[in-house]
Amino acid sequence: MIRLKDKLSHLTYTQACKFLGTNGGKLIRQGGKYDIDLTEQVTLTRHLFQLHVNGAVVTMQLDPLKHQRLHYKCSACETACTHLGAAFSLILEEKLALGLAAPPPEKTPIEGLSDERPWEADHPLGNPSAGHRKVN
Ligand SMILES: [Zn+2]
Repeated sequence: MIRLKDKLSHLTYTQACKFLGTNGGKLIRQGGKYDIDLTEQVTLTRHLFQLHVNGAVVTMQLDPLKHQRLHYKCSACETACTHLGAAFSLILEEKLALGLAAPPPEKTPIEGLSDERPWEADHPLGNPSAGHRKVN
């Protein structure tokens, strides 16, 4: 079963624009200008995303009756609005802060793959450790 977080973590800008319709890009840009405090204004659980912004409440859920399609609405508006734009903008930009994407795994050095090759003693410039090269 798809969880809301999985869905949101795979959300792309193009998809978000499609959700919001013809003005999607504009709404996301405008919505992105809201100053949002993640701890104060955002709730994200297994089944619910909620954003309180500018007096409106944006809710996102997966609709089990529609193949887990993302269902979203704004408490203040009938149509796509900057509040929804703010929510999508937030999800796209703050994936890491929202816990939607795992941080890249730490790089562990692979042992045995060193640049030093002590068996190649024939350095083309001679032995660099010899401090008294003859100058002709
Ligand atoms: Zn709204």
